[in-house]
Amino acid sequence: MRIFRNAWLIVDENGIIVKITKSPPNDVEEKITFKHSLIMPGFVNTHTHVPMTILRGLKDDVDLKEWLEKYIFPAEAKLTADDVYWGSLHGIAEMLSSGITTFNDMYYFEERIADAVLKAGVRAMLSRGILDIAGDTEKAIKATREFLDYVKKLWHTKEYSKNHIFFAYGPHAPYTCSKELLMKVREMANDTKFRIHIHLAETKWELTTFKEKHGKTPVEYLDSIGFLGPDVMAAHVVWTTDNDLEILAKRKVKVLHNPTSNLKLASGVARIPEMLKKGITVGLATDGPASNNRLNMFREMLIAALIHKGTKLDPKLMPAKTIVRLATIEGAKVLGLEKYIGSLEPGKFADFVVINLKTPHAIPFHDIYSMLVYTLERDSVEATYVGGKCVWKKDVGPTSYDIWKVCEKVQKIRERILT
Ligand SMILES: [Zn+2]
Repeated sequence: MRIFRNAWLIVDENGIIVKITKSPPNDVEEKITFKHSLIMPGFVNTHTHVPMTILRGLKDDVDLKEWLEKYIFPAEAKLTADDVYWGSLHGIAEMLSSGITTFNDMYYFEERIADAVLKAGVRAMLSRGILDIAGDTEKAIKATREFLDYVKKLWHTKEYSKNHIFFAYGPHAPYTCSKELLMKVREMANDTKFRIHIHLAETKWELTTFKEKHGKTPVEYLDSIGFLGPDVMAAHVVWTTDNDLEILAKRKVKVLHNPTSNLKLASGVARIPEMLKKGITVGLATDGPASNNRLNMFREMLIAALIHKGTKLDPKLMPAKTIVRLATIEGAKVLGLEKYIGSLEPGKFADFVVINLKTPHAIPFHDIYSMLVYTLERDSVEATYVGGKCVWKKDVGPTSYDIWKVCEKVQKIRERILT
């Protein structure tokens, strides 16, 4: 959390940070100067379903169940693998525009999301969302294996993709996956050491259903079958008991906090301050753009800073500095990538955001964390770099593709799926 004034960030030809120095470097190939700017670590968005930009605003302000069953599922059933590719490029551009350099995704046609990640030059941990409510457990396992094979093929054929695409298992939720499927995922994760990405205890309905069916909370249930561990990344975790928090802390489960989505879908407010007190690692997340409706880390930081204060009547909860940590280094820990991303240190990837501080509302300047969380918005982002390479620039957009061509495609997809 150190702040360097008038400093140089030296990056090598592999996009790795060499050092941060006060003296201007001489023996470098290229120098770029950012005046009146803050250079900070890229944000880590720990839970999303990126191609859902296509479905954003399709229907808002209804119950989660109605929203899913009446609007989202029928529209998703019409999406092709190509649609998912274009939707991903669309969503990634928006993430880059708010300084997100790494994201954790769960969806289907995940192969095409991997293609979009490589095209955009961003980093992502990707999981093929699986479920077996209809009893098709084998099919779910097969889908996961196929996606892992695809990722391995990319790692093999495109050496650089190893630093951009990370694999995780994606059992959708305890209520959509059978015990058999969950146990199988646990077994595979033990063997391969890849992480597990799951939705957990998102709604009151989920808690009530598990209590009725198993006499346990969703967290207790997963623990009773030996599913929980330090490699589990659990999204939402809103409906928890004191015992649940003990379990999560003991098993070192990582929590993905989606404050906007939880408010918009009226799921509730997760007990994040208590989790942090217990030493649970928490990352910040936007959730999918259809339930947010933005992929904007500045908005997410603001809401995460405000809701806990307001609901607990305590302004000391979730201070700005903590919030910035959740959006950067803690998010990196959630993904198990803290050795590579999440802060600007020698040996890590040069994933950084350039934020313009020469704007009237950033003057006078007292505290950078306060400024980032409470004052600034994504329009302050000047450029986003991944591995020392500029992947997004203000007034240009993504540097490796034409965002307007993508918008045209997405508009056509919208027209097709709604007819
Ligand atoms: Zn989700």
